[in-house]
Amino acid sequence: VTLSDDASAMRAEATARRQLVARCYAGRERFCPRCRGTKVYALAEGRLRCAACRYTFHEFTGRFLNVGGLTCRDWLRAARLFARETTVSRMAESLSLAYNTVYRAVTVLRFAIVAAAPDAAQILFGDTGRMMGYDGGRISLSLPPDPEAAIPVFGVIERPDWTFVDLVPDLRVEHVIHFNLNFSLNVARLGKVVYTDRYQHYDALMFCGGEDSGRYADILDRTPYLDTRQGGFWSFARDRLARYNGVSARRFPLYLKELEFRHNHRNVDILPILLSYLCSFVPKRNQSDFF
Ligand SMILES: [Zn+2]
Repeated sequence: VTLSDDASAMRAEATARRQLVARCYAGRERFCPRCRGTKVYALAEGRLRCAACRYTFHEFTGRFLNVGGLTCRDWLRAARLFARETTVSRMAESLSLAYNTVYRAVTVLRFAIVAAAPDAAQILFGDTGRMMGYDGGRISLSLPPDPEAAIPVFGVIERPDWTFVDLVPDLRVEHVIHFNLNFSLNVARLGKVVYTDRYQHYDALMFCGGEDSGRYADILDRTPYLDTRQGGFWSFARDRLARYNGVSARRFPLYLKELEFRHNHRNVDILPILLSYLCSFVPKRNQSDFF
């Protein structure tokens, strides 16, 4: 590494930082992440202080891109590769970063996608959020598995222009088994992913964690509704879910919401959207959880 390599790397990082800071503030003046006050003064080493509440912070405090430890340049590159559905191992290779570092960054991007969904609060601030490693707004990227955690059930609604994949509150895997055994709700599986025929206003119920297929009765004369459809969300998601063959029950909501996002934005460039999600605040249940 020569001196000029260093200088150009620093310039590239400064350019990347300016780009991300601009996304964080989206044309507004700088503000305090705690009280949203706009009287902010600069301290040494890029730190900022709020004149109103005295909170000391920096430009990325409390935002998704502050989790995971990537440089600004690497965040921009990682987001670009993620937008193109590059695998984590290929990303690690092309960014010259450790696999685990990239895996964490991708997990942060997925949490940022979930946080932008209409049912974000429902997912993140309940049992599902805790299971996923999102506790009161803190993202834990290495949580020991909890065998007692309730597996979340999602409902899929396919419309021509938009697909909703929503957490169905209070619905448990046991209920799905009950509907299957007693009300002949057909159940199919894709690896560990279990999905049903139409149920109430949903085109399917879906969850991950079906290791024990003996629990379900086969209703052989009926194909689940989603499998009868061509070119919709399920055609899009099925191939991709098959590729995530090691998907865990804990991470499944992240993958499913990512697929919902990708499908609903399949005709646009998702990179600018991903970057604004990455620059948004990690949602907290209430402001006091923030600090
Ligand atoms: Zn403040």
